[in-house]
Amino acid sequence: MTFKSHMDQALAEARAAAERGEVPVGAVVVSPDGKVVAAAGNRTREWNDPTAHAEIVAMRAACRVLGSERLPGHDLYVTLEPCPMCASAISQARIARVYYGAADPKSGGVAQGPRVFAHPQSHHVPEVYDGIGAVEAEELLKAFFAARRPG
Ligand SMILES: [Zn+2]
Repeated sequence: MTFKSHMDQALAEARAAAERGEVPVGAVVVSPDGKVVAAAGNRTREWNDPTAHAEIVAMRAACRVLGSERLPGHDLYVTLEPCPMCASAISQARIARVYYGAADPKSGGVAQGPRVFAHPQSHHVPEVYDGIGAVEAEELLKAFFAARRPG
């Protein structure tokens, strides 16, 4: 089986989130046989929900499709390093592999901050691949926040 990155679709979700006025982060959940089960962008503003990060929204949708609280063997693509909340949810969902784009020194919880997967309380540790499509993910975020800066 050849490896196919689904980061392009995650980036498309990030762009769609920006158009809705949400922080541009997108995520895609892929089944063990390589099918996209769910794709989502941030919805925190639209839903008035601080937990509606792209990863959470995509994992909830995927769980609904599977009729399961867990997603063993599934991969998650996300354009930005997951925050501690999402990293914890990824562990709870038993996601097999996480591919993420840009590093997030401010709010990331995987390679920095609490480093959730390295914590002894993390009962399930996914394989993590960073820097996938990072340049485009960073540019989306920079453009989004630059447009919102006053003056
Ligand atoms: Zn998050």
